[in-house]
Amino acid sequence: MGADANAMEADEPSAAFRLGRDAAGLDIVSSAREFPATTTCSRATVRAVAHWDAGKTPAEGMATVITVLTAAKLLTPLTEIDAPQVTIEDGCITSIESRGALAPPEGASHLDYPDATLVPGYFDVHTHGAMGQNAMDGTDDAFDAIGKFLASRGVAAYLPTTVTAPIDMTLCALEGMAQQIERAKETSREAVSLHGAKPLGIHLEGPFLSHSKRGVQPAEYLQEPSIDLLRRFWEAARGHIVVMTVAPELPGAIELIQEAVRLGIRVSLGHSNATTPEAQAGVAAGAVSATHTFNAMRPLDHRQPGLLGVVLDEVHLFAELICDGIHVDPLLVRLFHKAKTPDRGILVTDSIAATGMPDGVYKLGTMNVTVANGRCMYEGRLAGSVLTLDRAVRNFVKFTQASYGVAARYASTNPAHMAGFAETHGELAPGRPANITVLSPSGEIRSTLLDGQVFGA
Ligand SMILES: [Zn+2]
Repeated sequence: MGADANAMEADEPSAAFRLGRDAAGLDIVSSAREFPATTTCSRATVRAVAHWDAGKTPAEGMATVITVLTAAKLLTPLTEIDAPQVTIEDGCITSIESRGALAPPEGASHLDYPDATLVPGYFDVHTHGAMGQNAMDGTDDAFDAIGKFLASRGVAAYLPTTVTAPIDMTLCALEGMAQQIERAKETSREAVSLHGAKPLGIHLEGPFLSHSKRGVQPAEYLQEPSIDLLRRFWEAARGHIVVMTVAPELPGAIELIQEAVRLGIRVSLGHSNATTPEAQAGVAAGAVSATHTFNAMRPLDHRQPGLLGVVLDEVHLFAELICDGIHVDPLLVRLFHKAKTPDRGILVTDSIAATGMPDGVYKLGTMNVTVANGRCMYEGRLAGSVLTLDRAVRNFVKFTQASYGVAARYASTNPAHMAGFAETHGELAPGRPANITVLSPSGEIRSTLLDGQVFGA
């Protein structure tokens, strides 16, 4: 798979050169095209790795960096490939074969993980921080510390997430976060070890949330839905808001959801006491997901199912889950898995600055959260988590007996799809950036490849 001779014809002329020979003795060539250093891979890369037409001559001297990655198993994750051989050129996957089908290109460096499973890099759509750093600070230091920590836990991409705070503080945070997202876009592949996982967009959690289901979101800063305020946020964030959590029952929420959808924001229902019709109105207005299902949501009543009933029943709705064994009982994790299926469930961390740090007191927005024994508490309530996505995956596998392939859909494919990054993230396939998480047989992180670079190497 990966390339076919016909595809070569469709592309514009490229400076192609010889990489090696395949099993049939045909030359393999690649384009010497330059790709943007960080994000998408041109489909041209894939098309250009094709059997060489003897009538053409390769161009010379173009330095493409080629890596061949081998392991025990690869989960795309929709299909499983035994003894995979992944060819990565200049940060992009150019072919995925079963070992032996292709001889590695000459001069390629070889990374071998004999007992490991390769899955797409994890994608966390709900994280507030880690390593003592808050995403809302928006500084280089905060984002480098968070990005590096996340990468060490198998995460390739994430949505830094706000909490409800004074409007000025939120506007300032959005500006800083937008700057960091733009900085990540410009980062070269070689700098991966300095910056780690990439922030791709912002998750705005609040301020348009329910007072009765606010969790620890400070009551004094909650706002009634306001399109004007959303536009101010949108401007401050320079259009980088990707997900917004909204309580659909608030006055004006439906118009707000419609405006958010117009802007291209994915609306996630949550921190909400919505009745069934209110939740359904939110879905009809364009909401596509639910924020930390079960937590900060009207509880399920068999006569009045409310938002939670709608989230579990509505097949098209994505739904986040904090799978730390604390926020949601393992029994309900199994029920969630049956209801949302591997097509729509999303594992998130909702992690705060305390993640990766010893017990103590940590800032979350304007709050001081006390962390002890894996619980983050503020005024007697759970305030985010210290969960990491690799642990969420292992918990999920343990609680549900699902395979790592299914869990990878929850931790990578579905979040990428929900957040609008399905073209580049959440699946291992030729033409995509080589964001690859390498798992041990027990789901521990062996390595994380970000744009083809081994993080930490
Ligand atoms: Zn949160």
